[in-house]
Amino acid sequence: MKSMIVELNSEADVKNFDKKIWLYRSIFYKNVHFEPKSTDAYSKYIDVINALNIKNRFKRIRYIYDTACNQIDNYNKENHINCEFKCGKCLAHHDTRFYNGCCRVCRFQSQNGCTTKNLTCKLFFCSPIRENYKTLHFEDIKLLKCLSKKNQIIVNGNFFASREAFLFVLYTGSFIVLSLTQFFNILLMPLSYRKHKKIAVSLYESIDK
Ligand code: SF4
Ligand code: SF4
Repeated sequence: MKSMIVELNSEADVKNFDKKIWLYRSIFYKNVHFEPKSTDAYSKYIDVINALNIKNRFKRIRYIYDTACNQIDNYNKENHINCEFKCGKCLAHHDTRFYNGCCRVCRFQSQNGCTTKNLTCKLFFCSPIRENYKTLHFEDIKLLKCLSKKNQIIVNGNFFASREAFLFVLYTGSFIVLSLTQFFNILLMPLSYRKHKKIAVSLYESIDK
């Protein structure tokens, strides 16, 4: 395997590297190991370089998925971003009859929050929350650029799926598989809603998506 030194010493270096991530993740760099030179500018890209050095497609997708979820969780925790739940009602629904915020129709919700790890959900915040907090957006997570264009679109729109089902869709990189799993999720929503409506959700006080 060939080695390629990644030098990120200036803004121009960073811009140039960022612009070429799509190329570095391609088949043309399958036999290239990226070796970073440690500088401050590079630290932002450590996860990107780690992902590019994983040459097995499934392992790379899994790494990107789990690392991006952790990045979002850590950011939200450090910045105290939360949906301001009070007695089971989130900020957007304080004055409505809806409990459990936007998770209320999902079969993975529980009194302790989400029982799985869904990247699309983690990236989603409604406008009242976006107005009150500086939340992360898709573009802020550089690592997501290491996914194919199709998978980037999937990451933006695959709510209500378990981690395993989500990873399966990403492995296939198929919009047809995405639509089928979404259709299945929608079919199950009335059941989930009825089940969770009965729960007094006093424990559901944190974001924990
Ligand atoms: S993101 Fe969802 S749970 Fe959070 S405040 Fe908005 S609607 Fe409620
Ligand atoms: S998968 Fe998404 S919608 Fe379902 S409980 Fe988890 S965060 Fe909520």
